[in-house]
Amino acid sequence: MIIGLDDTDSKNGMCTTYLTAVLIEKLKGYGTIKGYPLLIRLNPNIKYKTRGNAALALPVELNRSADAENVKQLVTSTLEEMAVFSEENTNPGVVFIEKTPQRMQNDLSLFSMRAVQDVLEIHEALELLARHGISYRGYKNKRGLIGALAAAGFALCGLPDPTFELIAYREKERWGTPRWMDEDSVWAAAATPGTWDTADYENKRIVFAPHSPDPILFGIRGRSEDAVRCAFLMIKSEPVERHVVYKTNQNTDMHLISAKISDVQDDRSYILDGRVSKAPKTIEGGHVIFEISDTCAALECAAFEPTKGFRHLIRQLRAGDEVTVYGSVKERTLNLEKIKINSLNLYESRNPLCCGKRMKSMGRGQGYRCEKCGATRKEPVTESLQRNISPGFYEVPPSARRHLAKPLVRFDMPPAASSCAH
Ligand code: ATP
Repeated sequence: MIIGLDDTDSKNGMCTTYLTAVLIEKLKGYGTIKGYPLLIRLNPNIKYKTRGNAALALPVELNRSADAENVKQLVTSTLEEMAVFSEENTNPGVVFIEKTPQRMQNDLSLFSMRAVQDVLEIHEALELLARHGISYRGYKNKRGLIGALAAAGFALCGLPDPTFELIAYREKERWGTPRWMDEDSVWAAAATPGTWDTADYENKRIVFAPHSPDPILFGIRGRSEDAVRCAFLMIKSEPVERHVVYKTNQNTDMHLISAKISDVQDDRSYILDGRVSKAPKTIEGGHVIFEISDTCAALECAAFEPTKGFRHLIRQLRAGDEVTVYGSVKERTLNLEKIKINSLNLYESRNPLCCGKRMKSMGRGQGYRCEKCGATRKEPVTESLQRNISPGFYEVPPSARRHLAKPLVRFDMPPAASSCAH
């Protein structure tokens, strides 16, 4: 059986991963988890999300198929006990996939990818559930069924580029209080090979622990269970109530669609080629905005203030630079996650030199004149430019990274192997 779950939490507490962690414990009497529990990040632009638009799936090998109804009962009663029903925006959903005909797999693999890259309607989930006779419980407006079904779909059809996250949970009486961990031990753990985004070296910040009142103490991301467990062993902290290693689609760029600028729609995420057509400018709040274009269309791109030092690079772009941008589009502005500078514009058109000074323009299309000797020239001159940046791939710092964004370290990372030195 595959159990899919979503939308049980609120900004003031709880978290669907914690409900899943509790269920893993409770389900032990009925069977075993097949492989790993799945933590799936869906479209990061969905306005209904509480935080990171996560949905969960538990593939369970039941000891006795006769237990299926008891398991459903246990899952729904635990969800009803733990979900924050009082929150207006909490609309829990749970699905139970028991049979997996090929037709269902085809439909679900499409649906799950659309949940990561596109915007779905509740009725689309309900139709799919009805078409394949999948049992489910949807609460309130039932929106959680979208994420629950999408996560279950990935458990059924597989993840093409899996990563792992070990989430450690806090003791209940500490929820809402400041988290305690020994910082030196965290910095040491952050260096574990095959893990990333435990700390932000450039901004000298530990970034693997949330600041909200939820049950999560911290989460360690990496390429294998071995790598994240190895880092976990190094961390000294307040007591860990329980921990779970999830298989995830985090840090894979699964949300990005390769497209042309003219195809861009709000609330989706893209990889786009273009040429800088308006130079970067810094606006109120410290955000840096520039424009890219291709032969058909133009789009604003932004490096927002939280991207910190990444903005220094963006400010150095000039009109004519060829780039590939990666990020989500909201209100016709792409929020940069990464940028590849393919080539730099190394030339600029300038007023000609005469008598050791730049000649004065005599007006648009009227040529130039030397103020000293009166000489004239029709055309400007093209001069080569010294640039302070180089072609290459650049990314926002870990403190500003979105869950789905693939960090550059993953592009060159060798396949998973044993990472523990002890
Ligand atoms: P947390 O990260 O703390 O678990 P969250 O950020 O995952 O919270 P939810 O509370 O799960 O946010 O709310 C997201 C809601 O949006 C869910 O009901 C989910 O089913 C729905 N949803 C997710 N992806 C899409 C999508 N692509 N289209 C439409 N609705 C979606």
